[in-house]
Amino acid sequence: MSKKIKAVCLFSGGLDSVIAAKLMIDQGISVFGLKIDTPFYERNILAKDKAIISAENLNMPLKILGVNPDYLRIVRNPRHGHGSGMNPCIDCRIYMLKKAWEYAEQIGAKFIITGEVVGQRPMSQRTHAMKLIENASHLKGKIIRPLSGKNLLKTDAEKEGWITRESLHGICGRSRKMQMHLAKELGIDNYQPPGGGCLLTCAEFARKVRDLLLHKKRVFTVDLDMLKTGRHFRFRKNKIIVGADETDNKQLLKLKNKTDYIFEVPEIGSPVTILTGPKTKDAIKLAARLTARYSDAKEDRVLVRYGSKQAVKGICVQPIKQKEIENLRI
Ligand code: SF4
Repeated sequence: MSKKIKAVCLFSGGLDSVIAAKLMIDQGISVFGLKIDTPFYERNILAKDKAIISAENLNMPLKILGVNPDYLRIVRNPRHGHGSGMNPCIDCRIYMLKKAWEYAEQIGAKFIITGEVVGQRPMSQRTHAMKLIENASHLKGKIIRPLSGKNLLKTDAEKEGWITRESLHGICGRSRKMQMHLAKELGIDNYQPPGGGCLLTCAEFARKVRDLLLHKKRVFTVDLDMLKTGRHFRFRKNKIIVGADETDNKQLLKLKNKTDYIFEVPEIGSPVTILTGPKTKDAIKLAARLTARYSDAKEDRVLVRYGSKQAVKGICVQPIKQKEIENLRI
């Protein structure tokens, strides 16, 4: 029996990557899934990762790889620019494909599979961007895009006879109709719903990332996790984060640095607020006023407790007015 050809599929668990992997598995290729897990994906920490569920459904091995500090340098200063938010899609794809090839070399895989569709995404999935990405990642001819392959140049895998052009499709554009149809044909009926996408494309999150990168030279995972939690306000060198619900409150207490201050209105429904940066009188007062504003207190003057380990000191403040909030909100 001849040895099966191996390939690595960049796999998010979304419908496109599931179809791409399935089409190649059906061609007799031994497909290994690889999910590059950036800190900018929206995720429900209580739910199982959809890439894991989808890989299990396909009976396909899956490796999940985190990103290194180079990835943050790309987000800060991408060679090919940002998209509509802080998404450096072209540089990000180059980064991911290089990682996929490193993995391919380790396991002896011959090519890379992606679920990309020509014209689906404005920045990285136009034909000339795809070519640029392919050249910059030194993978000319080695990337198979089974959903759109018929619209693209012949790849090495086709030339070698490992897969046929007939197994590829000619989908293009943003509509998902063809993928739904194809999924049905391939018997894929339990695919994961869309969502949980890359937060860098979201305008509000992009503002928070920009603010963070502007004010912090060295950024850690905890800083990025903070960006996904609560309402964020900028006051000079301070950042004030106010929890929006119970989950945020718990998360903020978990993520806070030991030099950060906690604020709370005692004995009443109150957010947890975290003050980072220099603990000046003005910053403390402002954090207290924001806490009072988002608490259930109805009075003109509200007692807010604060402190570094525990909120034990007290300050009496007027809740901040909506108009003042607008200028502070990141
Ligand atoms: S949307 Fe996010 S994860 Fe996807 S290519 Fe762009 S930057 Fe990368």
